Amino acid sequence: MDLKELGEFGLIERIKEALGGPMPDGVLGIGDDCAVLPQAGGMETLVSTDMLLEGTHFLRGDIPARLLGWKSAAVNFSDIAAMGGRPVGSFLSLGLPAGLDSDWMDAFLAGYKECSQYCGAPLLGGDTTTSQDGIAINVTVVGQCQSGRSRQRSFAVPGDLICVTGPLGDSAAGLQVILQGARGSEAAEALVQRHYRPVPRICEGQALAATPGVHAMMDISDGVASDLRHILKASDVGAVVRTEKLPLSAGMRQVCARQGWDATTLALTGGEDYELLFTMAPGTEPPVEYYAIGTVTEEKNLVWEGSSQDFIGFRHF
Ligand code: ADP
Ligand code: MG
Repeated sequence: MDLKELGEFGLIERIKEALGGPMPDGVLGIGDDCAVLPQAGGMETLVSTDMLLEGTHFLRGDIPARLLGWKSAAVNFSDIAAMGGRPVGSFLSLGLPAGLDSDWMDAFLAGYKECSQYCGAPLLGGDTTTSQDGIAINVTVVGQCQSGRSRQRSFAVPGDLICVTGPLGDSAAGLQVILQGARGSEAAEALVQRHYRPVPRICEGQALAATPGVHAMMDISDGVASDLRHILKASDVGAVVRTEKLPLSAGMRQVCARQGWDATTLALTGGEDYELLFTMAPGTEPPVEYYAIGTVTEEKNLVWEGSSQDFIGFRHF
């Protein structure tokens, strides 16, 4: 069978079946934003890893090296935020083509450092090798939280409100701006910035994890349409999403209207927003900005209220 047929998540399932168990007591392995490892002293260690490949995740000529450095760290620390953890440190492994310019490398490292400092997490190690074809960047992040605090994808319960911490689709619209050469206006440049320089919601994640009524949580890397399905599957529940409630930034609406792009589709399927997607019991008042976009249901299907379309998020295969 070819990998396309299996799909990204089918492939991960297969890896999990082959290698992912059995787990020692209290250890959470494959399937969430981070692995969770219990420690002495009432703490848990969180670990996650993500890869960025030239040609697949970025085009070297399009993204400035400094922003790629920021983004490589940011998308990883976002998974620590998604569990409600505090970043502790990171490991950076690089596969680099022999002819790469050292100025490019310096700029990349400056951006990586900027995000690491923002997250309060130093670089702890890594690996360096040559690559025959393009740049490969692999980052592993380590975080920490109090035992029992981490918010997992399986914690949603029927009746929960489904919420996000910020506007959706800015990053996807920014990518379209780049690909379709629609740059120049202030609104378009702000979207490009959201695509190149996502901000991991570290403080928000910790504040949400400290709020008792907050249940499931993850970060939005592949779009709500894909990411919400992970929460629903892991929690064995369904959802109604009210498409008119999706938070869309004014700039994103403006650029979509001008370019004739469907804002709802970009908001649900575009991905790379790195806002947090979480569920909470009605009446919970978390101390962060949030937008309620739907409700968790017992019935195990996903309904897009206000739209006749189905929405599928970003797929890597
Ligand atoms: P995220 O978007 O939060 O980074 P992914 O969709 O990349 O999560 O991965 C989903 C889950 O599958 C995670 O728990 C991740 O650790 C695991 N995973 C993905 N690829 C592999 C792999 N090659 N081997 C083991 N686990 C994997
Ligand atoms: Mg994630």
